[in-house]
Amino acid sequence: MVFHGTLSVMSPDLAKGLILVIEDERAISDLLRLYLTREGFGVQVESDGLAGLRAARTLHPIAIICDVGLPSMDGTEICRQLRAEGNWTPVLFCTARDDEVDRVVGLELGADDYITKPFSPREVAARVKAVVRRAAHAASATGPLTLGDVSLDPVTRRVSVAGAQIQLTATEFDLLEHLMANQGKVLSREQLLSEVWGYAAIVGTRTVDVHVAQVRAKLGDHSPIRTVRGVGYSAELEP
Ligand code: CA
Repeated sequence: MVFHGTLSVMSPDLAKGLILVIEDERAISDLLRLYLTREGFGVQVESDGLAGLRAARTLHPIAIICDVGLPSMDGTEICRQLRAEGNWTPVLFCTARDDEVDRVVGLELGADDYITKPFSPREVAARVKAVVRRAAHAASATGPLTLGDVSLDPVTRRVSVAGAQIQLTATEFDLLEHLMANQGKVLSREQLLSEVWGYAAIVGTRTVDVHVAQVRAKLGDHSPIRTVRGVGYSAELEP
């Protein structure tokens, strides 16, 4: 492990919680530390994949910013292992290249978002706050939601369709949960962006359509998601 990993600068105000940064490029981790500390978060930096995984398990950070290419363990593998252990700490990938973005998104690792290097302080802060807010919302959710053949448990983050469990990515889960929690209500794309993604200004409404299509494909004939033309989407049973 690189020595600077153990010398974390903790913000005096830890009320906002600890962010774990797993990044082997010192210049990038220093920048992230600076931006996040300024926003009032505590920051722990690890520069090695395995050390990062250990820190994720033991420090209980509120979010993880993770590089893709890392010594000893790839960032995608860290995320995969955490999810396999039932650890749903939000993971925000920090990627250098477009092919890494494709890998992160395509693997359906349960990553919550990604930022592309080089990034701006504003962008990092907005993304981190959004994933933290979404995670807090998920944690405060109440009991399981059921609509027709679809059941969703906000605590275990499991979804089943006609009794069979299916796998959704974190974003697909949040989207379905939000629609089911607002059963019968028509939600516009803009509303879904700001309430599910939390940063309407950064991604376009097309993102909503893409994710709705993915959720529908996984739920098949049991999907309760209806398109309301010219408005948005709602979750309800056929009248
Ligand atoms: Ca790297």
